[in-house]
Amino acid sequence: MRITLLGTGDAPGTPVVGCTCKTCQAAVRGTKSSRTRFSILVQNEFEDESGNTVEGRVLIDCSPDIRFQLLRENISGRFDQKKPVQTHLPIVIDNIVFTHAHYDHFSGLGEFYRVQPVISIYGVSDTLNSICNFFSYFSPHIQKNEIGSYETFSLIGLDFMLFDVVHQPVKQPVGIIIKNERSKVVITGDCNQNIPEKSLDVIKDPDLFIANAIIPDNYVAGPIHKHMNAIEAMEIAKKINAKDTILSHLSHYYPPHEEAIKKGLKVGFDGMKFEL
Ligand SMILES: [Zn+2]
Ligand SMILES: [Zn+2]
Ligand SMILES: [Zn+2]
Repeated sequence: MRITLLGTGDAPGTPVVGCTCKTCQAAVRGTKSSRTRFSILVQNEFEDESGNTVEGRVLIDCSPDIRFQLLRENISGRFDQKKPVQTHLPIVIDNIVFTHAHYDHFSGLGEFYRVQPVISIYGVSDTLNSICNFFSYFSPHIQKNEIGSYETFSLIGLDFMLFDVVHQPVKQPVGIIIKNERSKVVITGDCNQNIPEKSLDVIKDPDLFIANAIIPDNYVAGPIHKHMNAIEAMEIAKKINAKDTILSHLSHYYPPHEEAIKKGLKVGFDGMKFEL
């Protein structure tokens, strides 16, 4: 499978509108400090129902910047062979799995009304209901698939599982585990360090741990109780024995990207890819 970090920013994104800090200035110059809002693309070759090998695509969350992110990644759509191409839109994304219904994670779903004819979404019921209420005007285009935490489900030839996290005041925020026959990827979604024991148990030993870490430490802009900072995220990484860790959902309180890397911070960047 291939994992692409489509957006590594927090809710305001970097640059923050109107901000002239060092990081936002670097972002305006178009460096890796420029961060769009959170989304992850998962790609995997699998056999479809007709026995053809196709590239499946699952989005983890749907950023308000999704249109720009998909254009940037040069995603080409798949047409349904049974219908003449001119009369319909291509399939670009097979499924979207949602972590929670905060604007920076779901509002890009509105784009799919005009990108592809039908979109199938997965998540816990509270999250899916909030999203469908928000987008009630195109709800006939949404296929809703409610999944409980800790249940395994299969998409594009990969195993997925949702696990509970804490991200107040969201009722049931979740992180996501993705597995193929070789590797395990864990994505925290938005959460603080109080990850329930049951979740810590199912997320242990990941090959790749993608953790939310909104600020580098509490001295810069903290404490922020809804998210982990980089120190807390690395503590969780150690606790679950992660082979590789990458920090995402990053604010402009981080130093510019290259400086953050030199300081040993495991920060990701928009467009970063992993083959697993
Ligand atoms: Zn967020
Ligand atoms: Zn700034
Ligand atoms: Zn959130």
